[in-house]
Amino acid sequence: MSKSFGRGYLAIPGPSVLPDPVLQAMMQPVPNIYDPALEAMTDTIRRDLKQVARTVAPVAIYITNGHGLWEAALANVTRPGDKVLVPANGIFAHGWAEVATRMGLEVELIEFGKQSAFDTDRIMAALEADPDHRIRAVLGVFVDTSTGIRNDLGALGQAMRASDHPALLIADCIASLGCDRFEMDAWGVDITLAASQKGLMSPPGVGFLWVNARAQAVREGQEQVSPYWDWRQRLNPEWFYQLFFGTAPTQHLFALRAALDLLMAEGIEAVWTRHARLARAIWAACERWSEGGPLKLNAPQGHRSHAVTALGVGGDGGDRLRAWCEGQGVTLGIGLGMAPLGSPEAAGFFRIGHMGHVNGHMVLGALSVIEAGLTACEIPHGVGALEAATRVIAGR
Ligand SMILES: *Cc1c(COP(=O)(O)O)cnc(C)c1O
Repeated sequence: MSKSFGRGYLAIPGPSVLPDPVLQAMMQPVPNIYDPALEAMTDTIRRDLKQVARTVAPVAIYITNGHGLWEAALANVTRPGDKVLVPANGIFAHGWAEVATRMGLEVELIEFGKQSAFDTDRIMAALEADPDHRIRAVLGVFVDTSTGIRNDLGALGQAMRASDHPALLIADCIASLGCDRFEMDAWGVDITLAASQKGLMSPPGVGFLWVNARAQAVREGQEQVSPYWDWRQRLNPEWFYQLFFGTAPTQHLFALRAALDLLMAEGIEAVWTRHARLARAIWAACERWSEGGPLKLNAPQGHRSHAVTALGVGGDGGDRLRAWCEGQGVTLGIGLGMAPLGSPEAAGFFRIGHMGHVNGHMVLGALSVIEAGLTACEIPHGVGALEAATRVIAGR
């Protein structure tokens, strides 16, 4: 919690800042969960969520965080002994692989390290080396929030569709939906995962699975699916209560409705453009800082997410910088996955979350505070970062 006066900016990569209309929408009495108005509102949420993911596929809504979604997706389309392919460039891919292993699946992991995007050819080669089609799904993290790398799932999806391998493509868009351009149907993604608390600007606790016809057909071939994760009734409930396999998350639904109103009013293309410009302002500043000191952008050019930026400064600079910025109302994210959690090396990394309810004032303010922090913490850095960032915001 910020100890300074004034409004803080929770600049961690999720949960993200809640817009005032979202907060206000939650501040109302809990409705009767059998009120038709709640059902009607939920229908509009399910409708608008399709637009956000660029798909005609229906969405199943779960009371869960992102980790639950990993399990939900696998529970519907795999059974113990099946094989999945997991390309990895960050700890979220490894976390998903671990969930798969613990569910009794055989995991083939393709490691791309912490600074390279997925190589579609290598993934396709692994599928081609599986003539018996034992691999049931490719688990693709779109943006790995630990490294800030955005992977080209569009190229992967199209390559998979062009091949005769029937594996499903399951995309973890938890960090990036509503931030980075994502086109579920055009890219050939079969199942998309997203959670409420990042680009969707709502409190943590609700998760979404968009499921296309191919994935639904695979589910129909399963003998048994654990009841809570089964998406069948959630996609086609006989009555509203089944949509959530129990009581609806009422205040979360009010929050989501308000958040989707904001996204729909701005337009998803404009939302992506806003994120792109804010991200470019951050990279421009970071590149200048890099010129005169140890600060480094982690993700390679061309594969940087518009939702989160992972940085290294070496030593314990990340921890010191975060502590200093906190006192000025800017909460930066801890480094994740770059070094073992809690190890001395982990103190050299930090992340900036710029997802969801963000604008030029917040990003330029955060960058200014970081620059002041670099100076206060005596971390050498190049000059001209703020000017470079303001030029991007100005469109010059
Ligand atoms: C945040 C995140 C998760 C985990 O979500 P939780 O809600 O913390 O369980 C998984 N994958 C990605 C890419 C994320 O950004």
